[in-house]
Amino acid sequence: MITGNYFTNNEDLQDQFQTIIDWKEIVEAYENNFADAEEYKKSGNDKLAFAPSSIEEAIEYYKSTLFSVGDVIGKQLAPRSAEMDKIGLKYDNGKVIFPKPMEEAMKAVIDAGLLPYSIARKYGGLGMPVIVQALAMEIVSRGDGAFGNAVGCFNLAETIEKYGSQEQIDKYVPLMAEGKFCGAMALTEPDYGSDLPNLQTKAVKDANGQWRLTGTKRFITHACGFGDKQSIILTLARTGTPTGGARGLSFFIVKTEDIFVSSIEKKMGLHCSPTCEVVYDNSPAELIGVEGYGLVKYSMGMMNTARLSIAAQAMGMGTAAYMEAKKYASERKQFGKLIQDIPAVKKMLASMEREIAAMRCILLEASRSVDLYLWREDHLKHKGMDDKEIRRDEQIRFWEKLASLFTPLSKYYITETGNSIAYNAIQIHGGSGYTEDYDVSRIFRDVRITNIYEGTTQLQVVACIGSVVAGMTPTGYLRAYLDKELSVFAATERLLRVRKIFEQIVTAFTEIKDSSIRDSLAFEVVESTARIINGMLLERSAARLSDPKKSVRLALAAEYHIDSIASLESNLIKIQERGKVAA
Ligand SMILES: Cc1cc2nc3c(=O)[nH]c(=O)nc-3n(C[C@H](O)[C@H](O)[C@H](O)COP(=O)(O)OP(=O)(O)OC[C@H]3O[C@@H](n4cnc5c(N)ncnc54)[C@H](O)[C@@H]3O)c2cc1C
Repeated sequence: MITGNYFTNNEDLQDQFQTIIDWKEIVEAYENNFADAEEYKKSGNDKLAFAPSSIEEAIEYYKSTLFSVGDVIGKQLAPRSAEMDKIGLKYDNGKVIFPKPMEEAMKAVIDAGLLPYSIARKYGGLGMPVIVQALAMEIVSRGDGAFGNAVGCFNLAETIEKYGSQEQIDKYVPLMAEGKFCGAMALTEPDYGSDLPNLQTKAVKDANGQWRLTGTKRFITHACGFGDKQSIILTLARTGTPTGGARGLSFFIVKTEDIFVSSIEKKMGLHCSPTCEVVYDNSPAELIGVEGYGLVKYSMGMMNTARLSIAAQAMGMGTAAYMEAKKYASERKQFGKLIQDIPAVKKMLASMEREIAAMRCILLEASRSVDLYLWREDHLKHKGMDDKEIRRDEQIRFWEKLASLFTPLSKYYITETGNSIAYNAIQIHGGSGYTEDYDVSRIFRDVRITNIYEGTTQLQVVACIGSVVAGMTPTGYLRAYLDKELSVFAATERLLRVRKIFEQIVTAFTEIKDSSIRDSLAFEVVESTARIINGMLLERSAARLSDPKKSVRLALAAEYHIDSIASLESNLIKIQERGKVAA
């Protein structure tokens, strides 16, 4: 496994961080006129001691945090990832035992104060905008995907911070911020996976007014906790009637000590990530927020953050696979030359490189879209503005709509492409790639789950398609976004050609009357949406660089557009011809 600092030894990530990301916009959105630093001056609250007080300080704070994450992960965790995978987890009567190297790496991360990055500083977290959180998760998962899951679970306190009562926040969030509790998210049941609105774990109040949960949850990551730390399990359960659908579901806090982990799954990958079967038997629980909002508001909110996190996880694993393939191709000789110089291999590597750049563009744009509405909503709420007024805020409305498209879009695109990259990384390694001697086989097994959990690709497409169609109407927000972004740099002819075919695709799709044919073609529309947006983002990022990097990125974007034109033309034919059959 390539080691080193995973923040600094990644050129594309560095270009994004140093030059492409508009930090002023992000810092202004997140830091709320540097309110934490102001508060520190007044109160001397230790938790705010590192709060930045200027844009430059904020960038430096984010950078030094990512540098430390890159160092611990790339130098301490990555060299032991293969060993951890081989040892795996052990299950003993409800308890899960983690491999020692994993516990040591987690201790190093917690001791270095790098967890949790998603919690506000006043509760003991690092306080990071979503875009920095995404980069952190990418770096962690490049080191090890299962470790990425553990880190993601330690960050779950943010859901309590967002939706819990002040009492729950004070009770749980600081302890989770100190790393004393892990987190877990319990939605899936044996008979209800994608079909969450119908799940059946039952929640009732006992004679003392205490909520109690009964039922079985399946595939729950870290429900067992981590090492000696138990988890706060955020559980979706039914307070309404069995047939009441989504509106009958509420959201609860349950502790590991109050459930029984009846087994852990034996999986093809992520051998160090515990996937638990969980039995709730009259388990005491605390209701979060309002009854009936469990799925429609809180779990959806939690899942949106988690979807970005899984996109970042696949970004990290895809990056690891690409880097390993590139290294191998620069060392392996066949027919008297390095295989990196053989056109077929060169072509695979070039395609991987541009997809990695595109994946990172959409990951960061999706994160940006969340940063540009979420914190503003928070800040306006703290100023005393009521919900109705906040809903009318133009900036919040625009970026929230884009975030609700970009989140599933990036999750679908990055996890699918991360899988293809891992597949090709094995191809480039030849027979050696199929052995356990090289890291690519482990990465290939690990990345395979990313387009399944947190909602399969098919469910991400369902989540995107309505937004694409509504967004591309003459006054739609996606059209407005594309028009605005394409006006800030001189778009190339190829990119404009992709846009033209995309418009034809949306028109042809909306003309199909048969809803089941339309549903079956939604993937083609969503794929085309991802490609036009990524192409635009690649060119926009080139415009922010200077030569020679600018020319290199423009050339990469040109190649990406060629792939896009071929893919969109094919999608257009499928939509037009299948649409005709339906008519
Ligand atoms: C390693 C691992 C970790 C996990 N961690 C967690 C966790 O921490 N918490 C948690 O709650 N869950 C977790 N899960 C569960 C995971 O989120 C589900 O497996 C996933 O959502 C899919 O559900 P399912 O497995 O029941 O598949 P199903 O829902 O049965 O889907 C089967 C197939 O049908 C397709 N399909 C189903 N419905 C539709 C539809 N309406 N439109 C189009 N296609 C559809 C799916 O795309 C898929 O291809 C985890 C799973 C694994 C394997």
